[in-house]
Parts: sequence; C-alpha cells; structure tokens
Amino acid sequence: MAGEPQSDCLFCKIVAGQIPATVLRETDGTLTFRDINPQAPTHVLVIPKAHYANAADLAAGDPAVAAELLTEAGEVAADEKIVESGYRLIFNTGAGAGQTVFHAHVHVLGGGTSLQHPG
Ligand code: 5GP
Ligand code: ZN
Repeated sequence: MAGEPQSDCLFCKIVAGQIPATVLRETDGTLTFRDINPQAPTHVLVIPKAHYANAADLAAGDPAVAAELLTEAGEVAADEKIVESGYRLIFNTGAGAGQTVFHAHVHVLGGGTSLQHPG
C-alpha cells in the first residue's frame, strides 16, 4: 500500500535507523542525508519518510510532503552554502532514467564548477 514501509527498501531501512546514514535535516515527513557515492562536492538526498516509488506517486499520494521535499532541498542548499554558486535538483524516475532506489528522492547537487548537464 502506498506510504507503508517496504521491508526490502533501502531508504525505508534508513528511515527506520536499520542502515546508518549521515543525516543533515529531519522533519515529520522528510529525511535529508548525504549520498553514499557523491557526484558533486555537495550531494544530498531528500526523501519522504513514507514509501512512495517515485516523485509522481508521492505527489499524487501526499502533495504536502512532495512540496516539502523542495522546501527541504532549498534549506539544505543554504546550509551547505551552495546557493550562490548554484545547484541542481534531480528526480530520476524509472530505471531507464537511472533510478536505482525505488523510494522517492530528490538529489541536491552543487558546490562544483563543472556540474554535468543532464543528457
Ligand atoms: P537514483 O539512482 O535511484 O536516483 O539514486 C539513488 C542514490 O542513492 C544514488 O546516488 C546512490 O549513490 C545512493 N545510495 C545508494 N545506496 C545508499 C546508501 O546505502 N546510503 C546512502 N546514503 N545513499 C545510497
Ligand atoms: Zn521505501
């Protein structure tokens, strides 16, 4: 069922504290932590605590938390001091687009001078 924890989901395990992560921010509905394999000097993920497979499912199931992902992305960008130099927000959706963890998340990428433009 949408929103329910999935026992085989990596990010549900991070939310549950079963897998460690470097957590930067937390709200009732969201968790923000560093990506384990950073692609930029700052590479952070913002996720809903509830399980939705992708951003579209999250937006349909809980629009308030979907909006909060963007608020938290902006807040962590300010915390990381990457606003002035600029940053990218990316929602990979579907395996064909490179999504590997099927729990909604937005990548916050910044702090570099040569951020790769999406193809
Ligand atoms: P996707 O490719 O699904 O858009 O992004 C998944 C992201 O999750 C990848 O950037 C990957 O590095 C990150 N990731 C995978 N496993 C872990 C983990 O155990 N901990 C953390 N912090 N990030 C992870
Ligand atoms: Zn999940």
